[in-house]
Amino acid sequence: MSTASASSVLLPTYARAPIALERGEGAWAITADGTRYLDFGAGIAVNALGHAHPHLVEALTQQAQRIWHTSNLYTMPDGEKLARRLCEATFAERVFFTNSGAEANECAIKMARKYHAAKGHPERYRIVTFEGAFHGRTLATIAAGGQQKYIDGFGPKVDGFDQVPFDDEAALKAAIGPETAALMIEPIQGEGGLRSVPMRFLKRLRELCDEHGLMLIFDEIQTGVGRTGKFFAYEHYGVAPDIMSIAKGIGGGFPMGACLATEEAASGMTLGTHGTTFGGNPLAMAVGNAVLDVILAPGFLDHVQKTALRLRQSLAQLKDQHPQVIEEIRGEGLMLGLKLKTPNTDFVAQARAAGLLVVAAGDNVVRLLPPLIIGESEVAEGVARLDKAAGAVEAELARPAAE
Ligand SMILES: *Cc1c(COP(=O)(O)O)cnc(C)c1O
Repeated sequence: MSTASASSVLLPTYARAPIALERGEGAWAITADGTRYLDFGAGIAVNALGHAHPHLVEALTQQAQRIWHTSNLYTMPDGEKLARRLCEATFAERVFFTNSGAEANECAIKMARKYHAAKGHPERYRIVTFEGAFHGRTLATIAAGGQQKYIDGFGPKVDGFDQVPFDDEAALKAAIGPETAALMIEPIQGEGGLRSVPMRFLKRLRELCDEHGLMLIFDEIQTGVGRTGKFFAYEHYGVAPDIMSIAKGIGGGFPMGACLATEEAASGMTLGTHGTTFGGNPLAMAVGNAVLDVILAPGFLDHVQKTALRLRQSLAQLKDQHPQVIEEIRGEGLMLGLKLKTPNTDFVAQARAAGLLVVAAGDNVVRLLPPLIIGESEVAEGVARLDKAAGAVEAELARPAAE
């Protein structure tokens, strides 16, 4: 154990790797002693444009010299602008800015409940979620996620969430009742292990919501802002939600999130019904606008799709080369996963030893979430380092047999 962790006064809720990243350049993150890591984690899908992107640095430093914070008591021109751009590029007509993903989901949950209450049905407050989901760490979002390990010990579970298996229409239909307000789902589960919702099931969710008058909530906190090769993952499915939470990539590393909705879905959120001190802060809005300048520029998402295809093809070869280690390649765009036969945490450590940062996920998956700006050479370098990591894992497997 490093002296840093032995003497740390931070809550020990994270098993932190013993490296400290001091600066970054594009897809590279660098420690104080100059060790360079190729960053295929991007701060868990946050640094969408890599580290120290000149356009983002410029936007943030310019704004830092003007004004940092005003509160939501005043008009926010950059917030108005960012909200309008998000609406123009999506299904949405209304936006509420937050500081994090969990807060965006809290807004989504409150909005879905309030929608029905404002229509005279306060009894419709329950939300159906799906096994393996992750929606954040607030009291309501751990209840929504339904993972016992995050719920245990924190008092009574927040009421109003019913969880059903991932792709089980009969169970879903049985869970929908007169108290149901909404269905809430990640189009591709991130923390849960890169599980994609089958296209027909997602379309079915939309139909069921329309039949029963339910809000359809997509949690695109991880899948959004270009990560899957489209601006939002729902575009792959030809199905739009009523409410959508976003965060992670939209700030490019600056903490921010948002809840997007149709005018109808947002109709209960009237004056005074919700609020935030920091959400929509001018620094965040400046960076969010700068992120969109890049992501929505003509050709950018085409580049992401091309890069993703190249990476995916290389990973398929890698799987063939390491059948003892890699079971399956999952995901979409630059949100890819290696489902492993060997422990994913060992693989993450071996990748780090080979100079590559990747992120573990549920279901024994290793997540590859490189910045969307990576090029051909970084794809090749990343795959070479994954090959090295898989080789090291195989050598470990071979050891007991040789003894
Ligand atoms: C990261 C994540 C969250 C939580 O976001 P925070 O910013 O950590 O609160 C919620 N949902 C999904 C799908 C996520 O990936």
